[in-house]
Amino acid sequence: MDLRPHIRTIPDFPKPGILFYDISTLLAHPGAWKSAMEKLAERVRPYRPDVLAGIDSRGFLTAAPLALLLGCGFVMVRKKGKLPGPTIPHSYALEYGTDTLEIQADAVEPGQRVVLLDDLLATGGTAGAAVTLLRKVGAEVPALAVVMELAFLGGRARLDVPVESLVQYD
Ligand code: AMP
Repeated sequence: MDLRPHIRTIPDFPKPGILFYDISTLLAHPGAWKSAMEKLAERVRPYRPDVLAGIDSRGFLTAAPLALLLGCGFVMVRKKGKLPGPTIPHSYALEYGTDTLEIQADAVEPGQRVVLLDDLLATGGTAGAAVTLLRKVGAEVPALAVVMELAFLGGRARLDVPVESLVQYD
């Protein structure tokens, strides 16, 4: 099934000049969403993950159902201050200022293979920070998988893990 007709673009969100790729319409279509998850499962399975990690917040929507399909665990990489108990942080630079991602200290066992999931890869800044954080807690990160890739932003080249994407925009 062609996923593109199910992905809506919204101009000038969240800021003027940004074209937002909205997966709400894909999520709302059960056949298209099921097909997206099945395709992603085929791409991710060869990396033999023990765990899938979803990036806050639309990465949760992709990682959690995929973890069920692949029979592996699911953990959350969240923005600062959202996770209870001991957490490990990683701060990274944004265009203006910094941001911090966190993971629960006991979310991953050292040496586990953790495939990272998000809805969309843009510049790669967020995914790169999440990979660094996962490595900090001892995970091996064999790949990043996303539904959509804004290939014209070159995120893939900034990452040191293979990227699997279902739909590319040039
Ligand atoms: P980046 O760190 O630049 O790769 O941005 C990736 C993160 O921001 C992902 O979690 C996306 O959900 C979100 N994002 C960035 N740009 C867009 C966009 N044009 N449309 C929708 N989401 C975006």
